[in-house]
Amino acid sequence: MLNIVLFGPPGAGKGTQSEKLIEKYNLTHISTGDLFRKNIGEGTELGKTAQKYMDDGNLVPDEIVIGMVEDKILNTHGTEGFIFDGFPRTIAQAQALDALMEKNGSQIDTMLALDVPEEELIKRLLNRGITSGRTDDQNEAKIRNRLDVYKNETTPVANYYNKQGKLNLIHGVGSINAIFNSLSDVIDEHI
Ligand code: AMP
Repeated sequence: MLNIVLFGPPGAGKGTQSEKLIEKYNLTHISTGDLFRKNIGEGTELGKTAQKYMDDGNLVPDEIVIGMVEDKILNTHGTEGFIFDGFPRTIAQAQALDALMEKNGSQIDTMLALDVPEEELIKRLLNRGITSGRTDDQNEAKIRNRLDVYKNETTPVANYYNKQGKLNLIHGVGSINAIFNSLSDVIDEHI
């Protein structure tokens, strides 16, 4: 198994790069944001609860996120590994993920952290808001709140993996292919 945490602020390119990486390395993509949006689309109770937090750009409570990820892992069979995208976003989530991996006889092999300056992120998110229809990308105040939440609640997660010797910083500005090559170079050291 090859298990990767793809880390970075909203707009860093995690979704775009995940799509390319799952194809190249035959991995299963677990994006908690996508899973919440799917639940919202299907009108589930989980979706209704998550939406209240997502609308303001705040984090969905840990126990809800962790339960959803556990379900997804348990219902995925025969995969060669996972790419976690947008998860973990808190230390509690990172600890829960380590426990889940251990229960599966596996582990997180590496964290790839995309580094992108804040003004570039805001530009990208506002552009994505025009094409994706995501309401949390259409309002600069909401975007700034998500970036603040990232700084305050999520950046400690990078330190958590750094302490385990698993953090790799990747420059996230440039062509999609150049960034993909940098990510692939690090992954190739782990297979
Ligand atoms: P994303 O698509 O990753 O930008 O996530 C969109 C929104 O979903 C976030 O602003 C949060 O409200 C919620 N969300 C996604 N992943 C998580 C997570 N791991 N922990 C808490 N909230 C999350």
